[in-house]
Amino acid sequence: MLRLGAFELHSLSDGTFGLDGGAMFGVVPKTLWSKRTTPDDRNRIPLAMRPLLVKTDGRTILIDCGVGDKMPPKLADIYALDRTRHLDHSLADIGLTADDIDVVVATHLHFDHFGGATARDGDRVVPRFRNARYLIRRGEWEDATHPHDRNRASYLPENFLPLADAGVVDFYENDGEVLAGISAWRTGGHARNHQWIKVESEGRVAAFVADLIPTTAHLDEPWIMGYDLFPMETLMYKQRFIPEAIAGEYIVFFEHDPKIAAGVIRERDGKRMIDPVAT
Ligand SMILES: [Zn+2]
Repeated sequence: MLRLGAFELHSLSDGTFGLDGGAMFGVVPKTLWSKRTTPDDRNRIPLAMRPLLVKTDGRTILIDCGVGDKMPPKLADIYALDRTRHLDHSLADIGLTADDIDVVVATHLHFDHFGGATARDGDRVVPRFRNARYLIRRGEWEDATHPHDRNRASYLPENFLPLADAGVVDFYENDGEVLAGISAWRTGGHARNHQWIKVESEGRVAAFVADLIPTTAHLDEPWIMGYDLFPMETLMYKQRFIPEAIAGEYIVFFEHDPKIAAGVIRERDGKRMIDPVAT
């Protein structure tokens, strides 16, 4: 647990998975990226799924919610999915259950961030957090419900349509505060409406950057995922965000990093590094 003014922050886990190392580093050659991470015999690199729980007076907020338990076995094999320990275990570790979540905030609706929003109930798919409202940016909902051939595999309708059917979605349109002290900022890049979430209290900032900087190995500005639809937009946003995070000593949460959940980015002698922060 990390205290940030009025907030308690808990980095949670919904297990691990693996994605092709080449796809994770875009134009960066394997001779370089394989110094930072080790691929398995199918060229997949280890990745985590780390939703962030934010507790404040009488409110329990979840930022992203992992992949969930609906992935069919064939895809689970392709993605090396390991949910031996998943979000329910992680919530139980801090004395909570899925029913304690009041609000879910989505960075974007890709399956590895938002698959956990719904769950099977017999032959139906229903909201997984029964007492929660789900805050979703309208543009991301539009993109997710109108996929094209390049992003279709990431937007699985069963992960979000049942929420609208159940009437539990609150849409918002623009950048800015979505809850007291919590705001959403569009980066684009990875997806047209991908955003990072800022938690701010008493002058301190925690930044949940999702796929803008998915792991600490992606700190170099041109180390950008091949998955990104608009890589130049990712580059421009990283060039803006990282100096801001260094100057403001933001606590940056790396949603997919297999080892480091959060850290402060520092610059020493022109070199950038991560000072890990216990969560
Ligand atoms: Zn992702």
